[in-house]
Amino acid sequence: MEVKREGNSILHRVEGEVPQVGKTVIGRIDWERRYKFMRLHSAVHLVDGIIMRDYKEAFLTGSNIGEEGARFDLDWPDLRKEQLPELEERVNQEALKGREIRVKFLSRDEASALPGLARTKPGQELLSQLDWVRVVEIVGLDEQMDGGTHVANTKEIGEIKLLGFENKGRHNKRIELRLNPRGKLRSA
Ligand SMILES: [Zn+2]
Repeated sequence: MEVKREGNSILHRVEGEVPQVGKTVIGRIDWERRYKFMRLHSAVHLVDGIIMRDYKEAFLTGSNIGEEGARFDLDWPDLRKEQLPELEERVNQEALKGREIRVKFLSRDEASALPGLARTKPGQELLSQLDWVRVVEIVGLDEQMDGGTHVANTKEIGEIKLLGFENKGRHNKRIELRLNPRGKLRSA
């Protein structure tokens, strides 16, 4: 089934006949796909948190999650390909720490008091218009405004692989992230 957003509506395109108005329909989540997206999304937040903590010269500017994996853009002009294995290892080590991932709702005032919560300009504008915001926290590492679905613990992400990057202008490196297909948990 195809799902897409149009304005404030979420459209579900069904196959076959269109149900009559008032008819009850049942939707089921494709759990395998959903769970993969949750792991990928949490993995990107984990990368973001590590970048903020360990690489002061870098900044994550955007990300995207798809069937194949996730990709994210880093404003990190001096990044060299040889540094990727180090970043990858830090992400994998951090995932193994088993940090809890929590969703919480904060009032605008509470949210505004937290530095780095809204990292992008659109995020800051959004924050100024809302009465409350949804925040996803990787306990002890990262918290940010977010509307997505996540796993409950970083261990569920398992091992990730960072593939080489593509230069998108001097200030942007686009990096592909993949989950380990061999299973979500590796032994410590
Ligand atoms: Zn997110």
